[in-house]
Amino acid sequence: MKIFDAHCDVLYKLFANPTLDFSASPELQVNLDRLTASGTKVQLFAIYVAESVHPDLKFEAALRMTDLFYDRILAPCPQVKLIKNRQDIEQLGDHEIGAVLTLEGCDAIGQDLLKLRTLLRLGVRSVGLTWNYGNYAADGALEERGAGLSRFGQQVVQLLNETSTMCDVSHLSEKGFWDVMECASHVFASHSNSFKLCQHPRNLKDDQIKALIQRDSVMGITFVPEFLAGKKEAAVDDVLRHLDYVCSLGGEDHVGFGSDFDGIEFTVEQLSGNEQYANLLNQLQKYYSDIQVRKFLYDNMASRLPL
Ligand SMILES: [Zn+2]
Repeated sequence: MKIFDAHCDVLYKLFANPTLDFSASPELQVNLDRLTASGTKVQLFAIYVAESVHPDLKFEAALRMTDLFYDRILAPCPQVKLIKNRQDIEQLGDHEIGAVLTLEGCDAIGQDLLKLRTLLRLGVRSVGLTWNYGNYAADGALEERGAGLSRFGQQVVQLLNETSTMCDVSHLSEKGFWDVMECASHVFASHSNSFKLCQHPRNLKDDQIKALIQRDSVMGITFVPEFLAGKKEAAVDDVLRHLDYVCSLGGEDHVGFGSDFDGIEFTVEQLSGNEQYANLLNQLQKYYSDIQVRKFLYDNMASRLPL
């Protein structure tokens, strides 16, 4: 069965350790071997610049990760194709895998729209305004101030609208989420779970999930144990609990997966690398019809992601 995964941090790992090889390094939870084994058809690759990088060097780090995306993922793997829009996905051949470049947090652009325009021209198709903390654009989910969009953040969203770039609401503060919902044309949540089931500030409350559903958008359930079960351990059934809950809010056609592989220290049991999507598939098939499973693993993201 085809898989569409809306978030991973393999670029961050390649940036941190240049000796890693995307085609087969076992240290990578997402590599070509694993993507092929799982049947992944489309994978989003995030540029994530760590908090520890000096602000003056953040844009350069984002450019280096963009370079890694082209040089270490696309160039050596001819079966991995750059995806810039939905048509590119539809044109993928049987054994080809689509790769979408995304930006996780606007920290790397400081307060300079030229830097964002540059990243968009280099192929970035989805932009999250923040990681967990505040920046010039907005506050993240763990920033206690809890502010929404700044004036600069509004300019960022305007540029995303003008360029038909997706605006990713995962990681935003609650106020930031609602501000973005008001002004962004193409919203989705790449890797977020239900706050009702797990009271973590990174998760989405019912009204937020319902608002995404109402916009005919999509959210990716993420495999982060802390956001699934509030602790370092979680099971595949916890993933199903969150999925089922989103369905109970009317989200059967609006939910998929955004694993966060290579961005997580602790993993869900039996879901510790991309090829283990097979275990999730097995469990899903126990409770859902084939059509539903296909929707969750691929169709909802492929048809509703505002690419
Ligand atoms: Zn993240």
